[in-house]
Amino acid sequence: MAILRRTAGRRQRALEILVRLKKRYPDARCSLDYASPVQLLVATILSAQCTDERVNQVTPALFTQFPDAPALAAAPLETLESLIRSTGFYRNKARHIQGACQRIVAEYSGQVPRRMEDLLTLPGVARKTANVVLAHAFGINAGVTVDTHVKRLTYRLGLTTHTEPERIERDLMELIPRPDWENWSIRLIYHGRAVCNARKPLCSECLLADLCPSSTHRVDLSPSVGSAPTSETPVPAVATPETPVPASVAHQDSVGVGTP
Ligand code: SF4
Repeated sequence: MAILRRTAGRRQRALEILVRLKKRYPDARCSLDYASPVQLLVATILSAQCTDERVNQVTPALFTQFPDAPALAAAPLETLESLIRSTGFYRNKARHIQGACQRIVAEYSGQVPRRMEDLLTLPGVARKTANVVLAHAFGINAGVTVDTHVKRLTYRLGLTTHTEPERIERDLMELIPRPDWENWSIRLIYHGRAVCNARKPLCSECLLADLCPSSTHRVDLSPSVGSAPTSETPVPAVATPETPVPASVAHQDSVGVGTP
């Protein structure tokens, strides 16, 4: 019973957080530049451990030379590497891009597949990349994108007790309405960059402070939502800004997945 109440409380709090984030960040769109699903797939692979801004500087030249899956599949590896070098980890990324495009050509007639299980067979594509592609290229909410910001904020907000992306994603899929799965991630990423950064969260300026068990600004959680921690509805053991979240959650701020 207590577990049910706790889940209900978390859901209510997550919905209130979603409402506030929508007001604060009305425009939740992918900021990677692309003209087709395969270009979005490539840009998302490039965005690992790199800013979206940097990816957008690299992709115009890349997509001018190699605009589609057949062209990328047949591109000389060294040329790909030199075109994407500044995004970091360029050797792996070039191999993944080429391998993914070769499989898209061989198995999917040159078109990016629209099913999660098919996308996950492509080299270099895990759930995070697949979620971004499905949501922004095809309008399909198959899951919740969990990047470093979503991990950190979801944990600090007490909406998960997990640190593994797939467990966090599962928790969020239970709490957030499906139509909002992707825009939840984008807005959380905005908020992570603007206010709740990894090293120094600005709790005194945070519109979620009264909903956040990790806040240093207000210790009393909002009585207007069901998630306020009581003896019956304990919040998870979230780390506060003074007691930093685990290293696997508190990552650098510069990584992007399709957000400005
Ligand atoms: S209150 Fe502080 S820890 Fe909580 S989400 Fe806002 S900035 Fe982050």
